[in-house]
Amino acid sequence: MIARVTLEIALRKEFAYFIPPELADQVDVGSRVQVPFGARKVLGCVTGLAEESAHARLKPILKVIGAQTLVTPKILKLARWIGEYYCCAPETALKSVLPEAVRHEQASWRERLHVRALPVNGELPKLPKRQREVWRILEERPELPLSELLALAKTTAATVRRLEDRGLVTLAAEISERDPYARYHILPSQPLPLNPAQAKALAAIITAMDGSPKPEVQSPRSEVQSPKSKVQSPEAAGTQGSMFDVGCSMLDVPASAPSLAPPSSPSTPRSSTFLLHGVTGSGKTEVYLQAIAHALEQGKGAIVLVPEISLTPQTVERFKARFSSGPLQTLVAVLHSHLSAGERHDEWHKIRQGRARIAIGARSAIFAPVEPLGLIVVDEEHEHSYKQEEAPRYHARDVAIVRGQMEGAVVVLGSATPSLESYYNCGKGKYTLLQLPERADDKKMPVVRIVDMRQTVRPGKAVPIFSPQLKEAIARRVEQKEQVILFLNRRGYSTSLQCPLCGYVAECPNCSVSLTYHRHENKLCCHICAHVEPVPAVCPNAKCRNPAIRYSGVGTQRVEATLAKLFPHARTVRMDSDVLKRKEDYRRILGDFRVGKIDILVGTQMIAKGLHFPNVTLVGIIYADLALHQPDFRAGERTFQLLTQVAGRAGRGDIEGEVVVQAFTPFHPAIQFARRHDFEGFYAQEMEFREQLKYPPVGRIALLTLKGRNEEKVKFSADYLKQELQKAMVGIKDLVVAGPAPAPLLRAETYYRYQIMLRAQRMAALSQRLAVLIRSLTLPDDVTLAVDIDPVDLT
Ligand code: ADP
Ligand code: ZN
Repeated sequence: MIARVTLEIALRKEFAYFIPPELADQVDVGSRVQVPFGARKVLGCVTGLAEESAHARLKPILKVIGAQTLVTPKILKLARWIGEYYCCAPETALKSVLPEAVRHEQASWRERLHVRALPVNGELPKLPKRQREVWRILEERPELPLSELLALAKTTAATVRRLEDRGLVTLAAEISERDPYARYHILPSQPLPLNPAQAKALAAIITAMDGSPKPEVQSPRSEVQSPKSKVQSPEAAGTQGSMFDVGCSMLDVPASAPSLAPPSSPSTPRSSTFLLHGVTGSGKTEVYLQAIAHALEQGKGAIVLVPEISLTPQTVERFKARFSSGPLQTLVAVLHSHLSAGERHDEWHKIRQGRARIAIGARSAIFAPVEPLGLIVVDEEHEHSYKQEEAPRYHARDVAIVRGQMEGAVVVLGSATPSLESYYNCGKGKYTLLQLPERADDKKMPVVRIVDMRQTVRPGKAVPIFSPQLKEAIARRVEQKEQVILFLNRRGYSTSLQCPLCGYVAECPNCSVSLTYHRHENKLCCHICAHVEPVPAVCPNAKCRNPAIRYSGVGTQRVEATLAKLFPHARTVRMDSDVLKRKEDYRRILGDFRVGKIDILVGTQMIAKGLHFPNVTLVGIIYADLALHQPDFRAGERTFQLLTQVAGRAGRGDIEGEVVVQAFTPFHPAIQFARRHDFEGFYAQEMEFREQLKYPPVGRIALLTLKGRNEEKVKFSADYLKQELQKAMVGIKDLVVAGPAPAPLLRAETYYRYQIMLRAQRMAALSQRLAVLIRSLTLPDDVTLAVDIDPVDLT
């Protein structure tokens, strides 16, 4: 037999290898193998088997990694789809589906010596004191890890070895699983009785899981309905064709996608995608939990995706607590980047072996080998961290929908602030909208007050950080022993250092951004490339040397410092990525905040998400317009989402909450709609703008970025690429090719960057032609091209 192997080194093709007889029963499609390549040994994945090859003398496979095939046929199919849709090499797509720790066998099961007491024939021989003590423990617990026994008996291994010599115990190596959550004491939880909106949502999801037809729209006022969208598309009915088109996000699938049975085929179960739109605290998680329970009852498993940032022990515990006991008991495996290689290995293999039927994790957990898969939950589906910003540039939410289609699993997207893409798809009938309009615990939504910061400007004076309104609110809440969260999505002390005489601005030597002043470290830092330099005492301009250089722009460090002056008695703690150097810090600070050791928490987006603190009654947003000034068509959407999410942190307890939003453009729609908690209003007005410019979700985008150290060469290559594109794309409907233009961030980490943006009605044909073009394109050696399909970051 012959194996076709996709190598990990980038070659964009399969190579044939001979399967030696001794490995014959271990090699299958999906096996990870080591093979000779030239003089090297390289890793790869078996992506096909064959009887014969055109080559007479094939080299043999050297080694198989792992006891089971690591890439299951279903995941392999998904990886192929990613390679084609996102225009990346098959080996790049394959790489992303296994965690590094598993792929490179960086870790394996940890073995520990276990002691087991043997039955005593006749009378127990007389033992010396230490051995007797050990034996007494073994009479209580006849089997336990050696290290535990030694700790209990306060003795050394030699004592146990004596007992082994006497034939009283055996010592043997056994697998001992790592449990990253072993230190947490998790109390089992029971399903809550659902409120009517939750019950309706769950019923719709369960009906889909049971394979019945989709729930009908009952009445315009029911919770199961389509959004009142202004953009009712006439072509909503024309979405048959490939199975993916039936319910898939905005994705359409390349014609060369894995062959799929038509949707009516009895062998492919129907599947459905739901968008669960519920305000923060409306009980979405409870709906997920009960839907997962239904999957387990069906003998299936589930994947839960949460943004890395909200993958706190708090979140994980809720899932473990529900499924750690009872009739549906199963292991809940957690996959995320804070685990050690060993923990990641164990968690992943628990899923592969089928012992853990629930996988919870960030982006890459969408590739967890849960089998059979009944449900995929994507919580906070609007989060941008679901998009991977290096090849393969996949979006985990969109991959989730495709995987759901492929495996007949139901997909539930949840958010308080859905992405425009997902809401739009509800309007087109691709997803079913489920709504939870009220908070589950009857808590009122917080009152939001907007403060016009233009009123605080005094001629000749710097703009204050705190308006009188916010200052007064903080004072009152701290006085009442309630807690405050202040939010500013910009770390450091001040964002630029400028000389008022000659205009000099301290800029990064590698990137086209100004350096941020960090007072605690007393350094100037680049937030793009992490370049650091000392703070100049005088203006560095040789002709100027002004000693009075000035800092401007406020960061979290400055907010913290100002609070210390204004409220010297309040206990203030800052939380941003500069503070959180170790993985324990995040937990420690949140723990302190929870038990009331902290009065005011200042932070970046880290504190905007999913946290639940009953005693927080005031949330202050220092500078709400910050995200509005980004050169990105989603700036308004981001601002709306951020404000709504941050505001959702207030008033989760018994006392009503308030939110104070400081803004220089207080009448901007993103701010006004967020103030009224009016998602639909925001959606309708934002869609007008997207519709006009044919931006997503109305049209589709592919962003091509060329980069290199020589700006002229990059520019020249971009012009050349544009010409080639125009030839290659002839006939694509409504295609707009914009650029080339310098990227908003022209220079990053010493590279110059130019962009070309392609916009079209549909992506399938576009990404297919792009893939062909890229393969034949020759660029100078020192210029590279990145293709980003459905980009999220446009800088
Ligand atoms: P979300 O995920 O939408 O932010 P959660 O599931 O965290 O909301 O629910 C918010 C709070 O309401 C939690 O404390 C949760 O225990 C509680 N809750 C959820 N559903 C119910 C229910 N049906 N009855 C009572 N309390 C509920
Ligand atoms: Zn830099």
